[in-house]
Amino acid sequence: MSDPLFRVDGQVVLVSGGSRGIGRAIAAGFASRGSRVIVTGRDQLTIEKTAQEISESLDTEACHPVTGVACDVSDARQIDSIADSIAEEHGRIDTLVNVAGINKRQPAVDFSEDDFDAILDVNLKGAFFLSQAVGKRMIRQRSGSQINIGSLNTHAAMTNLLPYAISKTGLDQMTRSLAAEWGQFGIRVNTLAPGFVLTDLTRGVWAIETMEDWRIANTPQRRIGVPDDMIGTAIFLASKASEYLTGQVIYVDGGFSAGRLWPFPD
Ligand code: NAP
Repeated sequence: MSDPLFRVDGQVVLVSGGSRGIGRAIAAGFASRGSRVIVTGRDQLTIEKTAQEISESLDTEACHPVTGVACDVSDARQIDSIADSIAEEHGRIDTLVNVAGINKRQPAVDFSEDDFDAILDVNLKGAFFLSQAVGKRMIRQRSGSQINIGSLNTHAAMTNLLPYAISKTGLDQMTRSLAAEWGQFGIRVNTLAPGFVLTDLTRGVWAIETMEDWRIANTPQRRIGVPDDMIGTAIFLASKASEYLTGQVIYVDGGFSAGRLWPFPD
């Protein structure tokens, strides 16, 4: 990256939920720009494989191999241990990308307590305790950027995914609260809110023809997002280019949240 405003080389970047989908793409985006990237997921073998595959795709002269470490974000003890080990090995953490997330789609009346807890434990509680563990180190180093992955549900509820919507709305409040509290320490906290992105989390939904027709009809840019669409905004939020930007949500959604398309006759 030649423009110094957007440089992230040399940064130590932790991406939770980096084994596939959006997290993997963001991790590869940072690694290919010279960051030292640590990716996490729940299973050690899976995350090591992802780290190896990303590393093999990199220019070895300019880039550092990616490290894969198992960390289930719903387990606070695993979070503490990963934050400790990264700080010990690298001495700092410059950017945290809180990507790990799960979802379940069904009517509100059908959610069990276990479903509710599982979704909130990963998407909200896990993100908070990872932010907190990394934030403690960022406060000491007096710098850092945290990027939380939101959703279209960050600002407008969609039907049949209530606990997920609650988790993403809560994450938005977390972004603003931490931005307010940590601005004095040089830490910025923002939300990157993807629109519809084709990943394992959503593939089943977009295989339904009526859903696909609705999405195309309501997305100004017409196409579905791909994980790589998230890289540019993540790099921007981690770099000097966004130095005075904190507590905000940036929608990367092909225009979906900009307004409503209606079937006005030509
Ligand atoms: P995905 O392909 O299913 O990937 C989810 C990632 O989260 C995987 O790397 C998974 O790793 C990890 N993960 C799940 N539970 C975890 C846990 N307890 N601890 C650590 N990691 C865990 O989903 P995606 O579509 O890329 O979604 C990534 C994020 O983007 C989520 O927060 C999601 O809400 C958000 N998002 C997605 C879309 C979309 O359209 N795809 C739209 C808006 C927002 P393992 O399974 O290996 O543990």
